[in-house]
Amino acid sequence: MDLQHWLGRAVEAVNGWSAGFGPFTPHPSHHVGDEEFGAAFADLTKRLQDNYPFFHPRYVGQMVKPPHPAAIVGYLAAMLVNPNNHAREGGPATADMEREVIAELAAMFGLPDHLGHLTTSGTMGNLEALYVARESHPGAGVAYSADSHFTHARMCRVLGMAGHSVPVDLHGRMDLDALEALLRRERIGTVVLTAGTTGTGAVDPVHGALALKERYGVRLHVDAAYGGFFTLLAGQGLFDPRPWEAIPSCDSVVVDPHKHGLQPYGCGAVLFADPAVARHYRHDSPYTYFTESDLHLGEISLECSRSGAAAAALWLTLRLLPATPDGLGRVLLPGLRAARRWAGLLQDSPHLTLFQPPELDIVTYFPSEPTLAGVDAATARVLNAGMAGADPVYVSALRVDGHALTGRHPRLVADAPHARVLRSVLIKPEAGDILEHLHRRLEELAGGRSHPCPVPSSPSDRPPAPIPDP
Ligand SMILES: *Cc1c(COP(=O)(O)O)cnc(C)c1O
Repeated sequence: MDLQHWLGRAVEAVNGWSAGFGPFTPHPSHHVGDEEFGAAFADLTKRLQDNYPFFHPRYVGQMVKPPHPAAIVGYLAAMLVNPNNHAREGGPATADMEREVIAELAAMFGLPDHLGHLTTSGTMGNLEALYVARESHPGAGVAYSADSHFTHARMCRVLGMAGHSVPVDLHGRMDLDALEALLRRERIGTVVLTAGTTGTGAVDPVHGALALKERYGVRLHVDAAYGGFFTLLAGQGLFDPRPWEAIPSCDSVVVDPHKHGLQPYGCGAVLFADPAVARHYRHDSPYTYFTESDLHLGEISLECSRSGAAAAALWLTLRLLPATPDGLGRVLLPGLRAARRWAGLLQDSPHLTLFQPPELDIVTYFPSEPTLAGVDAATARVLNAGMAGADPVYVSALRVDGHALTGRHPRLVADAPHARVLRSVLIKPEAGDILEHLHRRLEELAGGRSHPCPVPSSPSDRPPAPIPDP
C-alpha cells in the first residue's frame, strides 16, 4: 500500500464527514501561515534526523520498529477526530473497535471469557493486573523472576505490595523450585510469569506454575508484553508450546501491540480471565458514562483519557493482518528463524560467543574474551564502534550477573560482579536479510582489530563450548 496516497485519503475521508455538519470559521488564534509553518517544519524534520534507523535491517538494537502503514493511516484517520476511549461518549466508533480488538486478542490467547481493554503501555497493563491482584488478595505480596521487567518491582512499590524476586535458571526462566520455596515461606498472592523476557526473550514455565496455583491459591499473571504474539506460532513445532497453552488457565495476561503488533507507541493491552474483576474498578464519575448501561471502557481501567486512535490503528491492522498464524504469525516467523540462524553462526564464531540459545527472536552474545571485565569492556567497544563509520550496525547491550555468565560459560574468569553482553532484537521480518553481513561486521569489531597479538593461552581464554539447545 502507498502510504502517501492513503494518508491523503484519510484526510479526505474525515473532511468529507466533517463537511456534513456545515461550515464554520476556525478561530484566528489557531492561524499559522504556510511560510511560518514551513520554517518550523524544516526544523522538526532536521531534528528528527537525530535518530537511529529503526526501520532498517542494520538496526538490531532495541525492540523498536516503525508501525505498519495500515496502523499509521488508521491512527491518523481517527486522530483527526481525536476520540477518547475513556467512555462511549468520547467516541462510540473507536470504543467499539477497542472491544473488538480486545476480543481478538483474547481469542488469540484462547481465553474462554475475558474482561480487558487497551492501555497506553505494557507497564500500565501490568500495573492494572497487579492492582486487581492486590484487591483480590489483600495484604499478600507478588513474586516475579529476577529477569522480569523492572517495572514489576516499581509497581509493587506504587501499590504498597511486597515484591519478591525469584531466581532464574541458566536459560533465564523462573526457577519453580525457588518459587515454591518462596510460596511456602512468604505470604504471596500473585506470581508474575514472563512469556518472553525483555532481556533474552526467555519464556517462564507458565505450565509448570499452574500446579502451584492450585496448591497455594495464588493468582497467575502472565507478562507477555513482548512475547505475547508468539503464541500464534506455538502450534508449529518451533518451540515448546506448553507455556503458551497454559495462558488461558492463568488469571490475567498483558500484551503490547506496540511491540510485535505493528502499532505506534501508546498501545498495550490487559486481559483478565474472570470478567467479575470489574468490581475492583468500581467508581463513579460525575462527568461521564451517560450513554450506555454496559460498563464503559473507563469503568474497567485505571487510566482516564486514552487514545481512540490507538484502537482504530490496531483495528485496521488486524483487519488486514489478523491475530492468526497466517496473519501476524507470518510477520513474526522470519525474526524467529533469523535468530536461530544467527545462533548457529555464533556457535561457529572464533570472535563471538552465544550467551544462550534464543527462545524467541532475541539473540544474546558476547566478544570471546577470557574474563568478565574483558567481556564487558569489549561489549561496550563493539556497541559504540558498531554505530560509527560507513557500514554501521546497531545492537544493544544487556547487563547480566557474573554468575549468569559463568554458569553458562564456566571457563570465564569471574573478575567482576556483572558484565554487559551484546543483545539483538530481530523484531523486523527483514532482520534475516543482511544477517550474515551484520555477523561478519560484529566479528570484525569484536575480534579483528582489538587483538593484534594472540590471546593468552590459559585454558580460560578459549571460547567456551556453546550450550546445546534445550
Ligand atoms: C516492554 C515490556 C514491558 C513494559 O512495557 P511498556 O509498553 O514499555 O511500558 C513489560 N514487560 C515486558 C516483558 C516487556 O518486554
